[in-house]
Amino acid sequence: GPVDVECEVLVLGAGPGGYSAAFRAADLGLKTVIVERYATLGGVCLNVGCIPSKALLHVAAVMDEVSHLGDLGVEFGAPTISIDKLRGHKEKVIGKLTGGLAAMAKMRKVTTVRGLGTFLDPYHLQVQETSGTGQDQTGTTKVVKFQRCIIAAGSQAVRLPFFPKDERIVDSTGALALKAVPKKMLIVGGGIIGLEMGTVYSTLGARLDVVEMMDGLMQGADRDLVKVWQKMNAPRFDNIMLKTKTVGAEATPEGIKVQFEGLDGTKSEGVYDLVLQAVGRTPNGGKIGADKAGVAVTDRGFIPVDVQMRTNVPHIFAIGDLVGQPMLAHKAVHEAHVAAEVIAGELKGNAELAKAQFDARVIPSVAYTDPEVAWVGLTEDQAKAQGIKVKKGLFPWTASGRAIANGRDEGFTKLLFDDSPEAHGHGKILGGGIVGTHAGDMIGEIALAIEMGADAVDIGKTIHPHPTLGESIGMAAEVAHGSCTDLP
Ligand code: FAD
Repeated sequence: GPVDVECEVLVLGAGPGGYSAAFRAADLGLKTVIVERYATLGGVCLNVGCIPSKALLHVAAVMDEVSHLGDLGVEFGAPTISIDKLRGHKEKVIGKLTGGLAAMAKMRKVTTVRGLGTFLDPYHLQVQETSGTGQDQTGTTKVVKFQRCIIAAGSQAVRLPFFPKDERIVDSTGALALKAVPKKMLIVGGGIIGLEMGTVYSTLGARLDVVEMMDGLMQGADRDLVKVWQKMNAPRFDNIMLKTKTVGAEATPEGIKVQFEGLDGTKSEGVYDLVLQAVGRTPNGGKIGADKAGVAVTDRGFIPVDVQMRTNVPHIFAIGDLVGQPMLAHKAVHEAHVAAEVIAGELKGNAELAKAQFDARVIPSVAYTDPEVAWVGLTEDQAKAQGIKVKKGLFPWTASGRAIANGRDEGFTKLLFDDSPEAHGHGKILGGGIVGTHAGDMIGEIALAIEMGADAVDIGKTIHPHPTLGESIGMAAEVAHGSCTDLP
């Protein structure tokens, strides 16, 4: 059939994975086209994920901090909130970033074909044009012919089947739309996304309930880190329901009535002005006609890839949320670079580039709550479960001059070092966790230490500036090494 656009590399989806892949491919000299159904580049992360949530969390953190200044002798009145202005601020933040991406795409001569893409065969993608800010289809279709393809179609929020259609029941996208502040909010799913949004709404005035099937919130993080967050945040919650399933819901004029059932069989009920579904995200691999291209997709919608991000079809690659956990923007970006480099290596005959591989030792996780909870590499719980002998260095922030000066000494920094007999007391760092303000900004140093194979002496003898929170990483290493200096 007729072809409207031809390119060397087609990137399907313009999230952090997609735009990073397209930009790297273009920088390496390849004619690159992005297909994206939304009006702007940036995907979930910039439009309805990482960035808008952080814009709101920043405001919440400042509000919370100011509310505590009374104890220090500076009193402000109760805040007056203009929800429209706050929403406007969030939109401006998104606009700056998506606008920046559009400019960077133009600079690199990366073109975007707007619309919903589905494969016709292994070398052609059909694009049904979409309009407006969303995915309204216009009826116009285009066919893009490609030599190589990078699938970066991302993921979307899981919807529980028994929730009725009602504007008081939202996913993270609906919560970020920030229509109003409810009096009483239920968070279904006690993971990072739910707790971040809960933090925002609670600071703006909502009372929170959270329901979680597992026996603790923020699964994946060590319990000692989560405990610090939970103690500080207990006042936000009326009810933290653990080991509890949400089993039914109905929309009533008084609110959304939700039924719960404990794993022990206990039944209960609650009524809410707003219900946030945050029970995970599902990959979009099953919605792009992958079978027409011969690309294998799992039952759950993931696309399996090798270390070069190659699918079972050698000229088609996949990256980001739809290739597997963890579904994080920074993972997508690094996978994107690998795919683009392998393709450029093959098309330009550059053997070195063609060998690119995704071989990260660790990928950090951060909950941008208040305090923040960040962890990377092996956790203490994993070490225990896997029988790995570790030496722990824990530095409590009650001993950090900066944390005390900030009035925020509830946190701690801990590092885990290999303590197996083969390590002979000089074990390399295997993991670390930080709970406290700015934990997310500091966790990268621990990731770097793990990637470099640093041991406790390397980290402890690295001079960190005083007085900073980052110093706590050097201190924790010294604790592990048994030579803690008591610098305040
Ligand atoms: P996506 O960002 O999902 O982008 C996929 C793109 O493909 C979308 O723009 C979509 O419209 C497009 N698309 C899909 N199918 C088609 C099709 N058939 N045709 C055309 N276009 C298509 N991660 C972090 O690392 N840090 C955070 O702080 C963080 N916070 C988050 C907060 C929230 C509320 C949410 C929901 C997520 C958050 N994430 C965070 C996760 C992060 O957003 C994702 O990991 C990241 O966006 C994945 O990037 P991606 O490129 O794989 O896909």
